[in-house]
Amino acid sequence: MKQSEAIPESGVPKRGILQRLKEGIVLGAEGYLFELERRGYLKAGPYVPEVVLDYPEAVKELHREFLHAGSEVMVAFTYYAHRDKMRVIGREANLEELNRQALRLAIEVANEAANNAAPEDAALVAGNLSNTWKYDPDDHEASEKIVAPMFEEQAAWAKEEGVDFIIAETFSHVGEALIALKAIKQTGLPSMVTFIPIYERSLDGHTWEDACKMLEDSGADIVGLNCGRGPNTMNGFLRSLRKKAGSYLAAQPVAYRTTEKQPFFQALKEPGCKCAFPLALDPFTHTRDEMAKFAIEAREIGVNYIGICCGAAPHHVRAMAEALGRIVPASKYSSDMSMHPVIGTGKSLCKED
Ligand SMILES: [Zn+2]
Repeated sequence: MKQSEAIPESGVPKRGILQRLKEGIVLGAEGYLFELERRGYLKAGPYVPEVVLDYPEAVKELHREFLHAGSEVMVAFTYYAHRDKMRVIGREANLEELNRQALRLAIEVANEAANNAAPEDAALVAGNLSNTWKYDPDDHEASEKIVAPMFEEQAAWAKEEGVDFIIAETFSHVGEALIALKAIKQTGLPSMVTFIPIYERSLDGHTWEDACKMLEDSGADIVGLNCGRGPNTMNGFLRSLRKKAGSYLAAQPVAYRTTEKQPFFQALKEPGCKCAFPLALDPFTHTRDEMAKFAIEAREIGVNYIGICCGAAPHHVRAMAEALGRIVPASKYSSDMSMHPVIGTGKSLCKED
């Protein structure tokens, strides 16, 4: 028996991703790469999730924290765990072991949570594919021969371990996204495929509306955007996408205050400073209230899968869940400033401007 299918001992089947989306919004959470790098378990630069093998408990802990904060989806930490990246760090021999372990860690935490949730509402587990950096838009056919096997092996491991659906993400080229989609469809599992909207168009020249439409026409169940931009500069794209996209729409912005002048987080910089990406982004981090505002805006736009990417921390996820009207396990400790010794008396700790 597949591990994730072991959850509903009661005989009540877990509601799948498509059923949940049909019934309402699904809240996700990602940003594992950045958060585990901040915690000291992952090397910035190559950004390969070696932590899965070296410190599996650290990965499980972050899954637990996102779950506690209200994420309905445990995304297996296989981002950048494809053959080429593993080769770069000299650990290609560990490729399958790392992928299977990451999938099992996500499933284990989802199963832990199943003890506290109605079996049909137990957390979903998603496999995860990412862009490979090996796709050449000038030679799609040759590229496909290189990247398709990387996606296919990862997708097959995810299917074998028993995930509920597969997310493929941060694509800049429609061509590469379509190859990833094909690999997911071979597993028969539901697919969510999202682009990183750094520029106004994909690097192979399509508007994001057309890019998502192409995925949709090729059978993607959920399409949309993740990473690259914060809510301030992603929401405009989302409004246009919602008008055109017929399928479920996903949005997982970074938790950074991008602006019209610096529309993606790789461009963020303070006056007189070097680029903040990727190690000095802290002063640009969105507050929990700002991410809660995004969750509400995304719901108003008509986004079906609302999440968060790089920069995410559990306090953001809880605030987003509560903004969507949910009470989550971490809500037990949500703030109550009436109990603060100074603020609770109505006084402010800020000086007058
Ligand atoms: Zn990201």
